[in-house]
Amino acid sequence: MRIAVVGGGIAGLAAAFEVCEEAEVTVYEPGRLGGKLRTSEFGGLPVDEGPDAFLTRTPAAVDLTVSVGLGDDLVAPAAGRTLVHFAGRLHPLPSGLVLGVPTDIAALAMSRLLGPLGAARAAWDIVAPSTPVGDDESVRNLVAARFGRRVADRLVEPLLGSIHAAPTAQLSAKATAPSLLTTARSSRSLLVGLRSQAPPTTSSNTPVFLAPRAGMASLVEALVAKLRGAGVTFVSQGVRTIRQPNRGAGLLDVDGEPYDGAVLAVAAPEAARILGEHAPRCLGSVDFTDVVVATVCVSRSSVGLPDDVNGVLVAPGSGMLMTACSFGSNKWPHWSSGSDQMVLRISAGRHGDSRTVKLSDDEIVETLIADLSAAIQRPLAATQWRLSRWPGAFPFYRVGHLGWVDKVRSDLARTLPQVALAGSSYNGAGIPACVASGRGAARQVSTVVSDVSTAS
Ligand SMILES: Cc1cc2nc3c(=O)[nH]c(=O)nc-3n(C[C@H](O)[C@H](O)[C@H](O)COP(=O)(O)OP(=O)(O)OC[C@H]3O[C@@H](n4cnc5c(N)ncnc54)[C@H](O)[C@@H]3O)c2cc1C
Repeated sequence: MRIAVVGGGIAGLAAAFEVCEEAEVTVYEPGRLGGKLRTSEFGGLPVDEGPDAFLTRTPAAVDLTVSVGLGDDLVAPAAGRTLVHFAGRLHPLPSGLVLGVPTDIAALAMSRLLGPLGAARAAWDIVAPSTPVGDDESVRNLVAARFGRRVADRLVEPLLGSIHAAPTAQLSAKATAPSLLTTARSSRSLLVGLRSQAPPTTSSNTPVFLAPRAGMASLVEALVAKLRGAGVTFVSQGVRTIRQPNRGAGLLDVDGEPYDGAVLAVAAPEAARILGEHAPRCLGSVDFTDVVVATVCVSRSSVGLPDDVNGVLVAPGSGMLMTACSFGSNKWPHWSSGSDQMVLRISAGRHGDSRTVKLSDDEIVETLIADLSAAIQRPLAATQWRLSRWPGAFPFYRVGHLGWVDKVRSDLARTLPQVALAGSSYNGAGIPACVASGRGAARQVSTVVSDVSTAS
């Protein structure tokens, strides 16, 4: 069985890993293997330019890391606080949040971020009659209907909006916060429903996030080494077209090479372009958001915040370019070299905000450092910096996104069943979701191809 994997990001590499023992696999990747998983040296440390940790709740990324022999290299970020910049001040996030949604009214009441009016409005959720919930809702609608605008704007928007680089007013709850949607359906009060599901804090020793100590590139390197050892071929060029000369049956033509099946682990619009006339009609219709990450080195004494502050989020309305700042040297204890230097990762880019496209690298970094200085009310000067640009970084999962996913998958299964789609465009942009989608797509292709060869 010959399988082509188109795209060598984490979804494509995971797809190749899934079937490399049973099939002859070729991975096509015109750029860097690993895609958005990129680590490079900064200030003598291996610092990620893209993702720097993955969630453990969905085990796919942890399992893959263990399978390639890096289980002992996984480290957890230090427990720390996140602050929200709102109305010119920094406020700690209240405790007990689930995706920004409160489950602890006492903590909310003490938080200056919402104020007494906001806390009282949030508490109304406990006694308010149930709210009708559709098949999908925008995250903001769902939250504001139960807790009011302040919770939506000052807690959920900075958290979920910055993770997805998109306004929660249009973000699908079903795709990005399914637990909120299901709880809103099953429980009259969202707060009470979420609180009853929250695991006791001492129930598990598994950290929420993990990352390979030497950065995400070490996962890519170990994975590629395993794949090469299993005989996987890597072709350093992009695929232009996939065709099926005999509709419905027979071999695929991948840029002139014959394959039994293929996994398309590229962004959906690129998958649509490659499939051409075979593509499901609306496959190319997902929108993407550009983001940038500025990695900067500043002196710890100039920051002047406690060492347990891991990050700052920015609530909308400040006009800042910065959307979030991760205090890398606090978050990752193995980065602390004992010197006064501190590594920060400052992010910018949100759907509908095109400023990063228009500004030069120097201008972006200057603006981001000015934004952070204003947020912490201390002047900062970078002793070293670099800017990583990520065009088309995040797919925008609009309300109804999962309906679109079902439609394109079922259309493709009808027209070209030996081709499957994987990657961040579909069922989640986080690394665990991309790994799971790659492995699932490869398994599906292998099964379809085996069934066809058994039948014939
Ligand atoms: C700045 C940033 C921070 C993030 N932080 C986190 C985080 O902390 N935790 C987390 O879980 N996730 C995070 N993410 C999200 C996560 O990194 C991505 O969603 C995920 O890595 C996407 O993997 P992928 O394989 O689907 O796509 P990609 O990594 O984009 O890979 C797709 C590959 O396809 C290749 N390709 C394109 N066209 C063709 C073609 N015609 N033929 C062959 N190959 C082609 C591309 O070159 C690319 O390498 C972050 C993303 C960014 C940008």
